[in-house]
Amino acid sequence: MKTRLEERIYTYSNYLKQKFGRKIFRVGLSTGIPCPHRVKTGGCVFCNPHTFTGDYVRKELSIQRQLQEAVPKIKANCGDVGLLAYFQDETSTAGKITELQKKFNSALNYPEVYGLVLSTRPDFINVETVEMLKQISKPVTVEIGLQSIHDSSLEFLNRGHSYKQVDEAINLCGNYGLEVGVHLILGIPGESFQEMKATVQYVSQNDNIKQVKFHNLVVFKNTKLAQMIKAKEIISIDSYIDILTNLLAYLKGNKVVTRLFTSNITGSELAVGNLTGNKTKWMNQLRKTMIARDIVQGSKTDLTYEGRQV
Ligand code: SF4
Repeated sequence: MKTRLEERIYTYSNYLKQKFGRKIFRVGLSTGIPCPHRVKTGGCVFCNPHTFTGDYVRKELSIQRQLQEAVPKIKANCGDVGLLAYFQDETSTAGKITELQKKFNSALNYPEVYGLVLSTRPDFINVETVEMLKQISKPVTVEIGLQSIHDSSLEFLNRGHSYKQVDEAINLCGNYGLEVGVHLILGIPGESFQEMKATVQYVSQNDNIKQVKFHNLVVFKNTKLAQMIKAKEIISIDSYIDILTNLLAYLKGNKVVTRLFTSNITGSELAVGNLTGNKTKWMNQLRKTMIARDIVQGSKTDLTYEGRQV
């Protein structure tokens, strides 16, 4: 009987230990360049830029200064860990290539930094971008906001790109040998379970995608979504865990699950719904539900996660 979540899901911590052979911490950094989609169109309906900056992100500082401030604090909290430079806020491949290259190299030159993780949009991935990233000698992961394969959902979210564009960006990165992760949102109003399942099956079957982050739809204050949505349209955490459990069965066991919940939120940041919570409690609920339904990641695909122990 697999009683631990790590035996049923290919977790990010297991993957990092396998890949780097030591404990790894992702240090949040910012290029300082605002997301062009938000600047031009007002942005995705769920976007509140104040909520997605990590503890160490200081947009106003150079990359070197951001690291100089962050690394001693990380070492004090986590001990001697390796680092991944995680450009997580805004659209981290937006900007002039030479400027981006300088910023990324500045992070990579820091001795403890083992690689880069870049969070971005599909319309800011092109041949010039991937050629620049391909030259980097340390591992690079590009996280692309997919959210859903259904164009009606992407329009609802005002993502400003189609599913086809995301598919092309993923395949371009994959063809250049870059590791690709995608972000998905479960519980977009109007999406059925079958539609969410189709998105997960797309991720499962695309060999260029190695990592996936699941998010529950969170309605932050000061967002367009807060004006558009009613509380009853937000799925409860129980429903989210129910859906997530069933969907994990359709995700091949070789895909790394880098996130299961959007949990780092406080009640005061929320406009609608009640999705603040205790991540440990949610993880435990997910674990118990997977055991009760006899589900492991990929159990309804041809590649089940075997519970590799590290
Ligand atoms: S792409 Fe990201 S940063 Fe830009 S508007 Fe959408 S959620 Fe915000």
